[in-house]
Amino acid sequence: MSKVDFKINLTSAATLRQPTELVAQGLAAAADLADLEKVAARYAVAVTPDIAALIDANDPEDPIARQFIPSAAELVAQPGESADPIGDHAHSPVAGIVHRYPDRVLFKLVHVCAVYCRFCFRREMVGPGKATALSDAAYQGALDYIRANSEIWEVILTGGDPLMLSPRRLAEIMADIADIDHVRIIRLHTRVPVADPARVGPEMIAALKVKGATTWIALHANHARELTDRARAACAGVIDAGIPMVSQTVLLRGVNDNAAALEALMRTFVECRIKPYYLHHGDFAPGTAHLRTTLEHGQELMRALRGRVSGLCQPAYVLDIPGGHGKAPVGPSYLSQAHSLAPEGDRQAETRYRVADYCGDVHLYPPKP
Ligand code: SF4
Repeated sequence: MSKVDFKINLTSAATLRQPTELVAQGLAAAADLADLEKVAARYAVAVTPDIAALIDANDPEDPIARQFIPSAAELVAQPGESADPIGDHAHSPVAGIVHRYPDRVLFKLVHVCAVYCRFCFRREMVGPGKATALSDAAYQGALDYIRANSEIWEVILTGGDPLMLSPRRLAEIMADIADIDHVRIIRLHTRVPVADPARVGPEMIAALKVKGATTWIALHANHARELTDRARAACAGVIDAGIPMVSQTVLLRGVNDNAAALEALMRTFVECRIKPYYLHHGDFAPGTAHLRTTLEHGQELMRALRGRVSGLCQPAYVLDIPGGHGKAPVGPSYLSQAHSLAPEGDRQAETRYRVADYCGDVHLYPPKP
C-alpha cells in the first residue's frame, strides 16, 4: 500500500473564479456583482476556459451559462432543501466512505472540481473553506474499511472530481483499491473530459487502467454542446484504451428540460460511444429551486424520448430519495393493471394489464382471445 499525498492539479490560471472576472469577460452583468459576490462567498465558482468558450454571452437563456454562472437565486433557500440532500452523512461509516448499498461504496477522495455546477448536490461539501482532499490517515482508514467488508464489489470514486488528482497520484490510488481482492470494479464520476479535456492525456488514461479491477468512467454532461471536439477526443482516448463509459445527466430547468435538448444530448452520447445511464431528477440542494423541474415534467420528457430515440439512447430517470434512502427509478410506467375481463367465477381468470405504446395508445395484455 502506498502512502498517498493528495496533490491536486488545479486548473489553469485562466479558470475564472471571481465574479469580477465573470463581469470583465462579459459573462455576468456588472449590476449583479454585489449579489454574485455573496453567492461566491458561500458556494465555489469556477469556469474553465473550455466552458467559458462555450457560453453565448449574448443569450440571456444560454444553457451552458445557466449551469456555471452564479445567480442571485442561489441566495434563496426553499423549504425542504438541505445541505446533505441525498443523505451521504447518514451512511458514512468512516471519513470518505458512503456505504448505502451492500455491494458498493462511494469513495470521496477530493473535494474540488474543475468547474462548479450551480445545482451541485454536494455544494456544501466542495469548494471554498473546505479541505481539498482526504487526509492520509482518513485515506488509509477508508481503504481499511473497504478491505474489511468483503461484500464490496464496486468502488465509486466521486466527490469532488477524482480526475483533479495528478495521474501519478490517481495511479497509486487505483492500485491500492484494485489490490483488494473482492473489489472488481472501480468507477470514476467525472466532469473533467468536458470541463478541462486537456487533463485527459495519455498519462491520465494510463492511470485509469489498473491490474486486478475493471475501470468504468461515468461522464457528467447536461447539454449536447458540452461534447465539443476536444471533449469528444478526450472520451475517445479513454474508450480506445478499453475503458467503457456511461453518462450521467441532471434534469435542469432552462438547460435540458425539453425533448429536443434531451434527444440531442442522448444521441451525442451514443455517437461518442457513451451509453446513457442516468437522468437524475434535481436534488433539494440549497438555492437550486430555479434549476429544478417537476417529476411530472420529467416523466413527460421520458415519454417523449421513448418516442424519439432507440433504447440505446434511453437513460433511466431516477430520484435520489431525500434522507439517504437511495435511488428510485421514477418512471414513467407503461403498465397498469386492468380489471379482469373474464366472467365472474371463471377460475382460469387472468389478470390483464394495460400497456401504453410510445404514441400513448393503450393495449391489453394478454390480448383478448
Ligand atoms: S462536477 Fe459534480 S461534484 Fe463538482 S460541482 Fe459539479 S455536480 Fe458538484
